[in-house]
Amino acid sequence: MAEETKQRTADDMPDWSAYRGVLVYIEHRDGKAKSVGWQLLGQGKKLADKLEVDLMALVIGHDVQHLAEEAIAYGADRVYLCDAPELRYYRTYPYSRASMKVIQEVKPEIVLFGATATGRDLAGAIATHLPTGLTADTTELDVEPHPSRLLLASRPAFSEKMMATILCKQYRPQMATARAGVFEALPRDPSRKGEIIRVDFSIREEEIAAKVLDFIQDQSKVNIEEAEIIVSGGRGLGGPEPFKMLKELADELGGVVGASRAAVDAGWIKHEHQVGQTGYTVRPKLYFAIGISGAVQHLVGMQNSGVIVAINRDPNAPIFKVAHYGIVGDLFQIVPAITEEVRRRKSASFLTDAANRSQAAEEGGVRV
Ligand SMILES: Cc1cc2nc3c(=O)[nH]c(=O)nc-3n(C[C@H](O)[C@H](O)[C@H](O)COP(=O)(O)OP(=O)(O)OC[C@H]3O[C@@H](n4cnc5c(N)ncnc54)[C@H](O)[C@@H]3O)c2cc1C
Repeated sequence: MAEETKQRTADDMPDWSAYRGVLVYIEHRDGKAKSVGWQLLGQGKKLADKLEVDLMALVIGHDVQHLAEEAIAYGADRVYLCDAPELRYYRTYPYSRASMKVIQEVKPEIVLFGATATGRDLAGAIATHLPTGLTADTTELDVEPHPSRLLLASRPAFSEKMMATILCKQYRPQMATARAGVFEALPRDPSRKGEIIRVDFSIREEEIAAKVLDFIQDQSKVNIEEAEIIVSGGRGLGGPEPFKMLKELADELGGVVGASRAAVDAGWIKHEHQVGQTGYTVRPKLYFAIGISGAVQHLVGMQNSGVIVAINRDPNAPIFKVAHYGIVGDLFQIVPAITEEVRRRKSASFLTDAANRSQAAEEGGVRV
């Protein structure tokens, strides 16, 4: 390996010493950040430490100073902030222009984006203009140390049958988009210190061909990647109907419904609910795996969840190997019982809260 690295630097790698540091793009909608940005700062910090460079963040938008401050709390040493009214909504042209200005001035050696619809669009536009190499939809990111300093961007390839590690030897920066939910954010620390650099970027509205007239939120669409609680069902449900039972539990807990590929392939639920290698990678605080065996392709999408509860009638199901809590039994009995218990506890705590409030009011001499 050492031999190979030495050869690479000497023979076919240009001198990239002007390019240093790791830059992470912080995506947001209406000033509300997507968690993938914080997750990438977490992984970016590991890469930056290995390369002994700074971790930087890029924030683009209008009235988004708070996101720059948040980026520091999540680990950035320095934040480049492009703030202008024309940047309120994501549009490829002004966002890629602003990003390129920062990249050309700052010269980071690595730039990372979330593999979201926006992240993919923006990264693609920037990489083709600079031009440089871009690996899409990565699930592992590492670096070779000095002197090669190469980003090892790995992603599933050939219908997800193997992992490919892709290098960008001839161009800088090295760019990658990465899946949400794969990497872990650092704990938020508001006392962390960093520098915010306002970038002098201006663009006239007339230069931008695309206009955003309105955003229409599809209320029926689930946002499984950002959910803190996911109640997932698999083939064990036996049909589409029992997903209503899962939805009831999810609603009680303030979560969303997920699914295995078997359930999606059977047409019981839409693909936007699918967790796993060919679905979404999720990292909720609480994940229920109900009637899901725990095939490796499912596990890669959820095994980093905070607490995993598995319900399965087969005590040898592999899902129990990753579960923090396991219930062996028939899901059709267990799920309604859990929902009922959640309801009971919620109304009990409501009654206790109400009792406390009226007690406090009485003590204060006011009767409500
Ligand atoms: C390239 C590739 C990509 C893939 N990508 C994904 C992916 O993204 N996501 C994914 O999930 N899969 C994916 N798969 C498929 C994966 O290999 C499994 O086939 C799939 O996850 C199985 O889904 P399941 O656990 O719901 O079904 P099964 O494996 O059939 O498990 C059903 C479980 O339900 C239990 N059960 C049945 N009845 C009850 C009951 N009444 N009460 C309690 N438990 C009960 C059974 O004991 C069993 O463990 C992929 C496969 C390939 C080859």
